Amino acid sequence: MSAVTLETPTSGKYEQPTGLFINNEFVESVDKKTFEVINPTDESVTVSVQEASEKDVDIAVSAARKAFEGPWRKETPENRGKLLIKLADLFEQNADLLASIEALDNGKAHSMAKVDIGMCVGTLRYYGGWADKIEGRVTDTGPDTFNYIKKEPIGVCAQIIPWNFPLLMFSWKIGPAIACGNCVVLKSAEQTPLGALYAAKLIKEAGFPPGVLNVISGFGKTAGAALANHMDVDKVAFTGSTVTGRTILKAAASSNLKKVTLELGGKSPNIVFEDADIDNAISWVNFGIFFNHGQCCCAGSRIYVQESIYDEFIKRFKERASKNVVGDPFAKDTFQGPQVSQLQFDRIMNYIKAGKEAGATVEIGGNRKGDKGYFIEPTIFSNVTEDMQIMQEEIFGPVCSISKFKSKDEVIKTANNSTYGLAAALHTKNLNTAIEVSGALKAGTVWVNTYNTLHHQMPFGGYKESGIGRELGEDALANYSQTKTVSIRLGDALF
Ligand code: ADP
Repeated sequence: MSAVTLETPTSGKYEQPTGLFINNEFVESVDKKTFEVINPTDESVTVSVQEASEKDVDIAVSAARKAFEGPWRKETPENRGKLLIKLADLFEQNADLLASIEALDNGKAHSMAKVDIGMCVGTLRYYGGWADKIEGRVTDTGPDTFNYIKKEPIGVCAQIIPWNFPLLMFSWKIGPAIACGNCVVLKSAEQTPLGALYAAKLIKEAGFPPGVLNVISGFGKTAGAALANHMDVDKVAFTGSTVTGRTILKAAASSNLKKVTLELGGKSPNIVFEDADIDNAISWVNFGIFFNHGQCCCAGSRIYVQESIYDEFIKRFKERASKNVVGDPFAKDTFQGPQVSQLQFDRIMNYIKAGKEAGATVEIGGNRKGDKGYFIEPTIFSNVTEDMQIMQEEIFGPVCSISKFKSKDEVIKTANNSTYGLAAALHTKNLNTAIEVSGALKAGTVWVNTYNTLHHQMPFGGYKESGIGRELGEDALANYSQTKTVSIRLGDALF
């Protein structure tokens, strides 16, 4: 199917695929339905792409099934690895263009999108390296039996990804799935389908056999739900909101009990102790909440500062956050672009309103920026109480709350006072404090004197209602393989 010529300020003209990528071809949806992709910077329509319905999901799933039961099953682990590494090379060669597509589609700063693409390359290469290192074991139960335990792929995996890091989530998902020998139907988020479609073109160029990786665009309630409920999908991996995560878990339970991994929301605490290096702490606190416009599941949105340094900290944090350049994602100095959509913009503005109405103090920001595009000023609330909505719920925007604490024990308790447990951070020069507090925080990732620093070798995922399973690192392989015990009788019959 034809592609559309688009243009970005950083990469000029390029051919953007718009079809559903099934069996290595870009095809129209069965109903010939399309939906519009909106540019969050100016609210214009960028392009229309094919929209998958339940019927298209069926076609994509059976393509994946056919590949899984056919040629892909016979592919060597080494070749699976080579394909992923080839895809990583293609991402690297197309890094500028991919970053431009992300900036166009999502509104993220182009300079930051380039960092995303670098991380995609690292992730794909890393899992390419894993493909031929997945090993089982032999277990001795006595002389009459020979037992081996092997890892096998799960089968057809549905992967449903969000819009905040479209290509990074794509890489986190497909890397371990392919390394372990599965086939995939990936659904991108309806707000940001363009990067995954371009990546699909690279999948074909890398030489993946048809049906191994299928990429569809579509909505959650239709295509997403069809995947989660599908009787021929063996596993669903999801990144997104906790509300949708619950829906997916229920769908899996009431269909075929497909395996489920979830990477969900957060309301992460970021704690600054009085002995911290203040300059560093301010930089990381600022980056912790305002990076990617606050649209990070691990955003450090609850900031706790020790009493003795609170006044000084808040003064300097405000100065720092006021210098974050908010504007055109393609401008060189931009740190914060627009929020991804009208819906997200409205949600965030409603939280800001709720914070004001609850009596919290707006230290900076609190308003829309400009009158075109979904731009929101970096916003800091103080005078907050733990029961306020803005302290309990995930805002997913450039909005944080700051409050003071007296003692270590008190802050550990307040920091853990959340249904979420994705990430947490603390800033201190005291090694004992660092080790004790990171041990006490109920979160899947704890950063010390840093924030938002993710690496493909390090597992990432949530405690409590922030998720099930771990992505990245060796741990992610467990999400995409199942264990088979083989027991061979060597001695005489027992009965
Ligand atoms: P948001 O509210 O920020 O869009 P979601 O968690 O709803 O976050 O969306 C993340 C991903 O989940 C998207 O790809 C979306 O299409 C998909 N999705 C949304 N609702 C469902 C659902 N009921 N079943 C399956 N996928 C869904």
